Amino acid sequence: MTISQQTRYRRTRDQLLAAARAQVPEVDVYTVAQSLDARPRPTLVDIRERDEWVQGHLPGAHFVPRGYLELRIEEVQPDRDAPIIVYCAGGVRSLLGARDLQAMGYTNVASMAGGFNAWKNNGLPFVVPRILSDEQRTRYSRHLLIPEVGEAGQLKLLESKALLIGAGGLGSPAALYLAAAGVGTLGIVDFDRVDLSNLQRQILHGHSDIGRPKVESAADRLREVNPDVQVIAHRERLDSSNALDIIRQYDIVLNGSDNFPTRYLVNDACVLAGKPLVDASIFIFEGQVTVYDPRQGGPCYRCLYPDPPPPGEVPSCAEAGVLGVLPGIVGSVQAMEAIKYLLEIGEPLLGRLLMIDALDMSFRILKAPRDPACPVCGDHPTVRELIDYEQFCGLPPRAVATASNGHE
Ligand code: ZN
Repeated sequence: MTISQQTRYRRTRDQLLAAARAQVPEVDVYTVAQSLDARPRPTLVDIRERDEWVQGHLPGAHFVPRGYLELRIEEVQPDRDAPIIVYCAGGVRSLLGARDLQAMGYTNVASMAGGFNAWKNNGLPFVVPRILSDEQRTRYSRHLLIPEVGEAGQLKLLESKALLIGAGGLGSPAALYLAAAGVGTLGIVDFDRVDLSNLQRQILHGHSDIGRPKVESAADRLREVNPDVQVIAHRERLDSSNALDIIRQYDIVLNGSDNFPTRYLVNDACVLAGKPLVDASIFIFEGQVTVYDPRQGGPCYRCLYPDPPPPGEVPSCAEAGVLGVLPGIVGSVQAMEAIKYLLEIGEPLLGRLLMIDALDMSFRILKAPRDPACPVCGDHPTVRELIDYEQFCGLPPRAVATASNGHE
């Protein structure tokens, strides 16, 4: 290119903007405000930089900085004919951004005249986003790289509350991974103290914790893993008098109990409180995991197991043993299902029962449909409040009291 050609193609800033103005329709802030209630609503794209976005943005706007506009717009709006309104701080960068979208084949793009400053100065409503701190952006950087998680997903996890029934074999890996992943509030129900025989599999606790309440040992360990996480210790035995009050405080429940009265109690309380339950059980070399959530069309525990087994027929891990790694695998699957559920990504184990056999290392999935005649979640439920679960399981109340201390 010769010097004279360069001169011929050089445009001043004002000429460039005038050309963009001739090409891109502009809408004023009041028209945009009215369009927020329209159906279908236009896609709002905020192309400012991060430090501007965090000071406030239009409700429902997508944050796509100008430098990433062409690269990310298809994730936000793949339909080339859908209405899109681009805005920046003053209405200049958005003209150029909208012109670039037109060049990509978007046919219905407008620029908001005056930008966010005009919006704010006219007293129109805006939202100030919750954002991750610099330390959090580093801590969760591997999550932020995943499109299915990203900053919005990580903030969602930080605002989520999960309840673990038991800080034992299953609760240990589940709690550690949920804490590390930044699930912001973790409740733990456990009445037990750390025993030497727990340490073969209950990796939340260490040798020096022997004799301490498990909820205290667990809380110390989890805060060390991630200080972002608030750990709520419920050092009490879960029963019909407290289960609903505790479970209602959380978004999702992970069951790590090892006895039938607690299993039925947690199931019924989750159905009555409308909370999803990630249930799991382990036995020697075998494990099972599934998600119960009748509100989403899945079954509950009673759909699959309407009646408890006769007392003494099914031995517990305390009687039959369990290989120490097994709860690590099964509890990790529970944590994964909980995180998927909280982020609303993937395919949950809803209506599907995962069966793990560690000896041949097989993972099989069985269908687990909801039973319309279920007494708790069926079409005509007969159980409308919590009952006496020890009696239901054919156990004398005090006999189960010792057994129900334990959690797998
Ligand atoms: Zn049911």
